[in-house]
Amino acid sequence: MEKTLSIIKPDAVKKNVIGKIIDRFESNGLRIAAMKKVQLSQSDAQEFYAIHKSRPFFNDLVTFMVSGPVVVMVLEGLNAVAKNRELMGATNPKEAAAGTIRADFAESIDANAVHGSDSLENAEKEIKFFFAEREIC
Ligand code: GDP
Repeated sequence: MEKTLSIIKPDAVKKNVIGKIIDRFESNGLRIAAMKKVQLSQSDAQEFYAIHKSRPFFNDLVTFMVSGPVVVMVLEGLNAVAKNRELMGATNPKEAAAGTIRADFAESIDANAVHGSDSLENAEKEIKFFFAEREIC
């Protein structure tokens, strides 16, 4: 069993497809161990995406992530990190496989509907960033 962090990004929250995205996780064997809707601050977004600080798209990414509320979740299940990445599809929705969340709900590489941890190590860090131990059931 693994835990991973998922974020439903501002574009998907604005489109009112939170439930449809959560259904993808639950229908594919992942369980929601924690969940909340939050408005990230500029410094939250900068810290969360610090790994991309030197990338040319960093400022656009931060601006996008604070443009509206997000839904943050801990997903739990067998191979949860890889399973979530598979359900999400490629970073650029134009390259995402048919039937993936990004193919179905995302518009562009900026507004790409979801975030998912890319390794078990990062999942642990990202879960700690958003959730206290008692919030994870
Ligand atoms: P992910 O793990 O699939 O989300 O992709 P990355 O960790 O590589 O990038 C984090 C986020 O930065 C992505 O989800 C995109 O929203 C954004 N991003 C990545 N590459 C680009 C890019 O080339 N241009 C822009 N504008 N945004 C990007």
